[in-house]
Amino acid sequence: MVKINEHYTEIGNNYLFAEVARRVREYKENYPDKKVISLGIGDITQPIVPAVIEAVHKATEEMSKAETVRGYAPDFGYDFLVNAILRHDFQERGIHLEPDEIFVSDGAKSDTGNIGDILSPDNYIAITDPAYPVYVDTNKMSGREIELLPCTPDNNFVPSFPKKTADVIYLCYPNNPTGTVLTKDQLKKWVDYAIENQSLILFDAAYEAFISEDDIPHSIYEIPGAKKVAIEFRSFSKTAGFTGMRAGYTVVPKELIAKTSKGESISLNALWKRRQSTKFNGTAYIIQRGAEAVYTPEGQKQIKKVIDYYMENARIIKESLDSMQLKTYGGINAPYIWVKTPDGMSSWEFFDFLLDKAQIVGTPGSGFGESGEGFFRFTAFGNRENTLEAVERIKTLLGE
Ligand code: PLP
Repeated sequence: MVKINEHYTEIGNNYLFAEVARRVREYKENYPDKKVISLGIGDITQPIVPAVIEAVHKATEEMSKAETVRGYAPDFGYDFLVNAILRHDFQERGIHLEPDEIFVSDGAKSDTGNIGDILSPDNYIAITDPAYPVYVDTNKMSGREIELLPCTPDNNFVPSFPKKTADVIYLCYPNNPTGTVLTKDQLKKWVDYAIENQSLILFDAAYEAFISEDDIPHSIYEIPGAKKVAIEFRSFSKTAGFTGMRAGYTVVPKELIAKTSKGESISLNALWKRRQSTKFNGTAYIIQRGAEAVYTPEGQKQIKKVIDYYMENARIIKESLDSMQLKTYGGINAPYIWVKTPDGMSSWEFFDFLLDKAQIVGTPGSGFGESGEGFFRFTAFGNRENTLEAVERIKTLLGE
């Protein structure tokens, strides 16, 4: 008889956003006339910029001709995109990486979720809490032991080192869901920890493009020694509206060496290459041409405008909530505002309260981990009109 991976039974049924969607659906069925505004899921609302659309159209045309049609894409990305990534995301920040250290993919969710394929189930895992749910769930699926590192106002959202030495550490900065960041000095402490303990850092930089302050690292490789201890995940989803187009990339430096159980050294870059070439068949040519266009001068100018638009939403949400004496965090280098729920409400109580009384949807902090209990996440990805209306409704509900 077929046997399942029993660990799947331990992770619970409801993925956070599925439960949010279920409650919203139920509410809309009961109150079809009410206008519900979502500041919940971190999805884009603004159109994809013209430079990307033009590139996608052009690439689509190429597919219509025998001379220019493309079949399977290279497993790790076309040179034109890899070179644009290297130049713009790394060389301009003084970071040297080789083309075969970049792995273009269909996004950071797959890569952060799949990276565990090349790591032993015996690794001891440290994950900041609250966190993007993929890290905890995928490690539970593999039966790994996890230590959560609380990130709360008590430690200014700067995680302490784990109680037991971690083999693998997940860091996500700018952070989803708290919107907080680490300075270079704070991140350096983690790189030094990893060097000292031969740990691996999995650094999720999906929100790098939203950094507005100096001294906040855009890449972990800005920290000396990081190439020996860190894999970095990037995404075009929030940077350039690719949530539905699907593109991202992962950096696996060749300096990253791990040990087999027999003590032999082995390159993680070689392992990831092997994994990807077996299980992944490349990102669509058309989409990679779109991603390449993000790096052109017009593309850069255009995506900056969209990012500024979202970050103006973030400012509006943050300032309005602050004026209501709610305690907010984040929202300056990230499109997320993390709010302490009022009157000691639990995260889900506040969710139901806002939905019921003001038809506003946010994301309950407890869905991101136990340290998220008593917090709530608003996103800046709405359109301006809805964002303004949402804060007005919350003001009416909670008062100045
Ligand atoms: N990493 C973090 C921290 C995210 O918040 C998200 C999406 O919300 C992702 C990764 C997934 O990105 P992608 O759309 O590239 O799969």
